[in-house]
Amino acid sequence: MSARRLLIAGAAATIGGLLWAERKRPLRKRTEPLLPRTATNLLLGASCALVIRAVEKPLVDRVVAANSKDVRGVMRLLPRQLRLVGGLLAMDYAYYWWHVATHKVPFLWRFHRVHHLDRDLDSSTAIRFHGLDMLVSLPFRLAQTRLVGADRATHDAWQNFFFGSVLVHHSNLALPEGWDRNLSRVLTTPKMHGIHHSTVLSEQDSNWTSGFSLWDRLHGTFRGDVPQGAITIGVEDARAPADHDTARLLEAPFRALPARTDAPRSR
Ligand SMILES: [Zn+2]
Repeated sequence: MSARRLLIAGAAATIGGLLWAERKRPLRKRTEPLLPRTATNLLLGASCALVIRAVEKPLVDRVVAANSKDVRGVMRLLPRQLRLVGGLLAMDYAYYWWHVATHKVPFLWRFHRVHHLDRDLDSSTAIRFHGLDMLVSLPFRLAQTRLVGADRATHDAWQNFFFGSVLVHHSNLALPEGWDRNLSRVLTTPKMHGIHHSTVLSEQDSNWTSGFSLWDRLHGTFRGDVPQGAITIGVEDARAPADHDTARLLEAPFRALPARTDAPRSR
């Protein structure tokens, strides 16, 4: 079996295993009917896949090809033996800051808000982004890849790690006792990311990482102190209840941005 086929088979097995596991051991109670919500998330995910394939991948691949020809960026500063690991860490760290920006810069929040409007959190939320969000994030993706200098092996390693991590930490999976806490010393876990998807702003403003938890620990943004049963998943603003409709969701980034309110605890 070729490496590519092995990777696809591994990804399919991971997704299938996750879907089965989050039904067997749910971390949080569902609030929405599963099917319409999953259909919306799949539709949005398909729009992202289209933009990534048509626009992002060809452009990022050009930068990766140039990085593979000459050692560039951060990777140039590293000894040869440390380039793969150092490059992967640098790609992950850059994404930490991008995620902070998508919440703090109003123009970027217009698009990222679509991801956070989901009132449940499970593996389908991992692909729930506005298709145009992929265009909006393109300058960052190009700068990230160029400044880190990620060559083909480093970029592929980061992308596989990133997608695996995003899928798992969005899942509604209750890991066995103690696993989540222990894993969160190094990686992003479902409990960590559940706190980031809280309607309470002070909780949403935490656990920004998409990969290694080191960055949140380093910047004091790590939180593990909110029980999942106390979290209301979603966004608290005046238009959020109406924006759950799929059609409104697609045009939501183009309407006036509603002021965000800090939600009181509802449970
Ligand atoms: Zn976010």
